[in-house]
This record gives sequence, structure tokens and C-alpha cells, in this order.
Amino acid sequence: MRVFDLHTDTMMDVSNKVGKGETDVLGKHHMPDYKAGEVGGQIFALWVPPTVEDGAEYFTENLTGPQDIMMRMLARNFREFRDYHTVELAYTGTDIERIYDEGKSPVLLGIEGFYGFNGEPGMIDVMYNLGFRHGMMTWNNDNEFASGAEFEGEDKGLTELGVYTVKRMEELGMLIDVSHLSFRSFWDVMDATTGPVIASHSNAWNLCHCARNLKDDQIKAIAERGGVIGMNTWKGFIMEDMEAATEKDLARHARYIADLVGPEYVACGFDFCNYFSEEDPTPGIRSAADAQNFLHALREVGFSEKEVEMIAWDNALRVIKKVLG
Ligand SMILES: [Zn+2]
Repeated sequence: MRVFDLHTDTMMDVSNKVGKGETDVLGKHHMPDYKAGEVGGQIFALWVPPTVEDGAEYFTENLTGPQDIMMRMLARNFREFRDYHTVELAYTGTDIERIYDEGKSPVLLGIEGFYGFNGEPGMIDVMYNLGFRHGMMTWNNDNEFASGAEFEGEDKGLTELGVYTVKRMEELGMLIDVSHLSFRSFWDVMDATTGPVIASHSNAWNLCHCARNLKDDQIKAIAERGGVIGMNTWKGFIMEDMEAATEKDLARHARYIADLVGPEYVACGFDFCNYFSEEDPTPGIRSAADAQNFLHALREVGFSEKEVEMIAWDNALRVIKKVLG
């Protein structure tokens, strides 16, 4: 069964490997897994290191700041897209389905953390014009726009720049992603916007108390807006006793959210990091090649075949089409 993955860090891996002189990184390192797991479409989220130090291990060049890092990562990825055509960029939900139906691999460009904006809100228009259709204002760290999930000191929520920028995202027609925001930033986004928002790669806080997961009132608010929540395979977001987590425990998060608000608000946002994490991935869901194992686990926690199809593909596409067309 086809699967849409709302969150993958693949662009980080492409940047790292292209930087080391490798070619056809997607074709050699990623496509085989997408095919094996029937992952038919994805959001490629560009993670921008909050500081030069955070990005230092990935670059040998002398970098001046996060914007420099962001542009270099972008350039390496655009070079890979241009030279190998392994994936095709999509700008709407209709594009995604057309590209998929043509037997190709659709990718929607997204950004994880506006650290490379240097506090300039006009950068959201720049990213839009480069083809980006998705954005998460922060990763875990605070920036000029918002407090992140691991905010320092006090949770300040959105700044004035953050409110302005998220409104601009809605005006442009971009997917607004709350996955890495602090609690206060989450509610500030809900106040500043009116359309659907997504949490591309977060689970249920009630089953695993960690700052990256969503509390019941947040889950309800996302559902009321017609948004969607992507289930994250990282074991630390599945269980507090993380070494015990398996794909079945992640399916229980999907079950919990569906029981709370309905199966139409659950999707996949796997966040696989088998290609660069030093820690072992969750057994049963180690890479995109295992995506079907997750669908099987969904059946085991009582989802019907129709509901599994919704979680695998239809729910994500419903929201993408609603926001992007
Ligand atoms: Zn993330």
C-alpha cells in the first residue's frame, strides 16, 4: 500500500554525501528503501543547524552563519535534483498525485527551523519562490521567530516577527508545521492563523511524556482545524523506556489519537534517521524500507483496511490539497 511520509531529513544526508564528493545519493542510498517500503511521496525537510557549531561536523568549509549553511545545503540538493532526476519536485497535492501516477517519486520541499533567515521575515517569500511549500519556524532551539520545543529559560511563544511570518505563510499558501514548537508557540500559531496546520512528526504526549509530543488539547485543536499529525518512529518519542519501543508501540500512538479525535487526523511522519544517527533505530521500523511493517501494526491495533489507507496516504494528501491545491 502506498505511503506518504510527511517528514524526512533526506536533504541533510544528500548535503553531507554530496559535500564528500558522492554522486547520485538519492538513487544509491534512498530510492531502494522507498521502493521496498512503498513510500510513494514525501516532504523533504531541510534542517538548518541553529548555529555554525551545530553544523560544524557536516562541513569542511569556513562557514559564516546559518544562512551560509542553508544556502550551501540547498545548492547541493538542487544540484542532486538537477543531475539525477531521481525525484520530481511537487508544488501542490495535485502535482504529488500526478507524479506518483507517472511512476515517479514526488517530493515537496520543506524547511525545519528558520535559523538561516537571520531574522529577516522576507526570507519566507524567498523560500516560497525557490519552491518551498512547507515550513516549521523552529527546530528545538529558540530563534528570532519563536520558542522551540527545548526553549531556554521561559517559553516566550511567537515573537512579533513570528506572528507576521506565520500569517504570511498562510497568505502564500504554505503548510504550517507545529512539530518542533514550544507549547506557547503552538497556541500562538493557532491564534495567528485560521486554516489547517500540521504536526508532521510528533506523537501523543499522554503515551510518552516528551516535549516533542502533543498534549490532548493540542491534538484536538489540530483536528478541529482539519489538520493532520504524522507518527514519528524515533524511539524516544514512542516510549519513555525507549529501548523497549517497537512499531507496535507507535501504532498505539496512532490508535490513541484516532480514539481521541478520529482516524482522519493521523498520518505518517516517520523521521527515519538510519542514514546518519549513531543510535539504533526502533526495531520493526528502522528505515523507509520498513514502512509496511508500520501499516501492519496499525491493522493489529484494530484499524480497518480503509483506515490504514487513510493513515498511509489519504489524510496527508487531503490537507496538502486543501492548503496547496
Ligand atoms: Zn524534526
